[in-house]
Amino acid sequence: MISIKNLHKSYGKLEILKGIDAEIEKGEVVVVIGPSGSGKSTFLRCLNLLEQPTSGEIRFEGELVTDKKHNINLTREKMGMVFQQFNLFPHKTVLQNITLAPIQVKKLDRAKADEIALDLLRTVGLEDKKNAYPAQLSGGQKQRIAIARALAMQPHVMLFDEPTSALDPEMVGEVLDVMKKLAEKGMTMVIVTHEMGFAREVGDRILFMDQGTIIEQGTPEVVLGNPTHPRTQDFLSKVL
Ligand code: ADP
Ligand code: MG
Repeated sequence: MISIKNLHKSYGKLEILKGIDAEIEKGEVVVVIGPSGSGKSTFLRCLNLLEQPTSGEIRFEGELVTDKKHNINLTREKMGMVFQQFNLFPHKTVLQNITLAPIQVKKLDRAKADEIALDLLRTVGLEDKKNAYPAQLSGGQKQRIAIARALAMQPHVMLFDEPTSALDPEMVGEVLDVMKKLAEKGMTMVIVTHEMGFAREVGDRILFMDQGTIIEQGTPEVVLGNPTHPRTQDFLSKVL
């Protein structure tokens, strides 16, 4: 579904991504782990061109996203993204937050957009919050709404950048549960997280990034249980 070839990203002279090659298969859950500053967010943000790669190729469903002539807006509609900070619109209700893009971008009529939104609210267990404003929600609830909002565009892949890192510990589980349900339904997902238990249980494949490259990848059993690279071993000894 996504194919990344020799992806480089620099800010000025600072090289952040130093040649990333990766393939994401349809239906796969790929978990990206690695130390802070290793380029995980930059990698994720390059996939939908929130960051412009310096060089390299990204293909999404066969289309060359990094081609200058490619219409990135069409691709972004198919790539849902969830951030550490929930980025909900503070002056809109939960329902309005979820229906905004489907109405404005996909030109759905309000009734249809509402129907999809209510269905998603049921999925994330927050149907009763449809008329609440973000400020009235807990962090875990906000993140579940952010996930529902991304899903409302019916994306083909979901990108998560440390979706539980800003949450109080007691709210991490409810968000991971929603993500696990999504994975079970077959959603293709690329997830940056420090939740190693989740990575082990839900991930089909783990990518370990360090200093702008993927230095090790494989099944959770191998990468988390029996890593070969000293830097992976060192990282895991600190987080497990
Ligand atoms: P991670 O998500 O793994 O913590 P990031 O991708 O956020 O890593 O950042 C990797 C490196 O790139 C860091 O050293 C960070 O300071 C640097 N960086 C990120 N964004 C910018 C930017 N807009 N300008 C300059 N440097 C940046
Ligand atoms: Mg990051």
